[in-house]
Amino acid sequence: MAARITASLTFLQHILAEVVRPGDLAVDATVGNGHDTALLARLVGPSGLVHGFDVQAEAIESAGRLLAAAGLAERVRLHAQGHERLAEVLPQADHGRAAAVVFNLGYLPGGDETRVTRPETTLAALEGSREILAPGGVVALACYGGHAGGAEETDAVAAWCRALPFAAWRVARYELVNKPGGPIVAVIAHKLPKPGSGNAP
Ligand code: SAH
Repeated sequence: MAARITASLTFLQHILAEVVRPGDLAVDATVGNGHDTALLARLVGPSGLVHGFDVQAEAIESAGRLLAAAGLAERVRLHAQGHERLAEVLPQADHGRAAAVVFNLGYLPGGDETRVTRPETTLAALEGSREILAPGGVVALACYGGHAGGAEETDAVAAWCRALPFAAWRVARYELVNKPGGPIVAVIAHKLPKPGSGNAP
């Protein structure tokens, strides 16, 4: 018997693969080395578009190289800007159109481990995500508890999620609770296609 108990990041990738379709608009709010940006770019296909945000030039450069090598650069716009500004940076025409907004919080793997995402800016970006998300879209977050401030940020994300009205949103969290090392909590906030259309009791 094969049980589908996956790693938290794999869980998020499966959900994104279900939700994001060719031609869609998607946002990677924390580009880092560009792995999630590349995943989204593959899912939206040549007729779709991905906006990526990161505050570190090193991340934008490293992701740019990865996307170019994979032949995906043309369908991605990288912004050297904080994700707290995402609703300002995206053209008005794109508001209410994003199939997914993805956050991989914490620090850049292999980079400066003190340059972490922070609750204030993460929460501002989550508010921006509400504006740009399409009905039926998802906000997908990987929250890390292993570094200084990580547990507080995970709590802040959880509190933001709990405040979303149940008539319009469904939020789930997933975690391998016996994983050694710092916890990785996957959070999916699904904006219902129509308020009240969710089937959960
Ligand atoms: N998804 C990436 C890893 C992201 S690491 C991958 O697969 O490789 C988290 C990233 O968030 C870091 O690169 C860091 O520079 C970035 N970051 C931190 N604060 C930010 C902010 N306010 N806006 C956008 N990006 C931010």
